[in-house]
Amino acid sequence: MKYAEISHFSHSQHNLKFDYTEKPFKCDGCNEVGIGSRYRCSGDGYQSCDFDLHAHCALPSASITHPFYKKCSFQFLARPPGNERRYCNACEKDVSGFVYHCKACGFDLHPCCAMLPMVLDDGETKLFLYRKVSSSCHRCGRKGRSWSYRSSCKKYNLHVACVREMLVENWRDLYKGHNGKSLTLKNTLEHHHRSSSKGKVQKCCEIAGMAMQFVISAVLGDPTALIAGVVGSLISRG
Ligand SMILES: [Zn+2]
Ligand SMILES: [Zn+2]
Ligand SMILES: [Zn+2]
Ligand SMILES: [Zn+2]
Ligand SMILES: [Zn+2]
Repeated sequence: MKYAEISHFSHSQHNLKFDYTEKPFKCDGCNEVGIGSRYRCSGDGYQSCDFDLHAHCALPSASITHPFYKKCSFQFLARPPGNERRYCNACEKDVSGFVYHCKACGFDLHPCCAMLPMVLDDGETKLFLYRKVSSSCHRCGRKGRSWSYRSSCKKYNLHVACVREMLVENWRDLYKGHNGKSLTLKNTLEHHHRSSSKGKVQKCCEIAGMAMQFVISAVLGDPTALIAGVVGSLISRG
């Protein structure tokens, strides 16, 4: 479901408008990075706002179930319960804003993590979401750590957490040297590639271009986000 304009409890002074961006943004609901579809307020004539929400955070369900946790019922909460630090069961990053929480088990899922597609399919490559995989992640070399996407040939594994980290780290590095939000994902990925031409990260670039793009956009909250050509060009430059 897509609306051109919505009102949201977390920013009740203005309506939020749907837009589409190829630049990463920080979601003011869950505090995680996003790309693609978002609901945004840039302010009115009197007040300027810089308020963004992932589509998943703008239009949450009151409660959801997840195929990995068949006995759980997750409720949407605007902030995590209690005073302890809490972690997302999907990506193992902290949860500091919007969250789906199972009261019975204490499990937490970021809204975008909860909505990760079980299968990403570009017509050629299929990637399946696993709660655990037995082979190591292409980025960090470790197993277990968080949910992973694995290709149907089983050659490629990437933790959902690693995909997000890879982009966020490099985005922040670059961001320091730039004024304003003029940074595109293209720069982010090119920088990433340049600054780590050897070692583990290089392996990321062996991953089929389209497959990688699907994983990135799914992890950032919008599996339909088009960043075509970006990763593909990195791979062809080897
Ligand atoms: Zn969000
Ligand atoms: Zn506003
Ligand atoms: Zn549960
Ligand atoms: Zn998460
Ligand atoms: Zn990893």
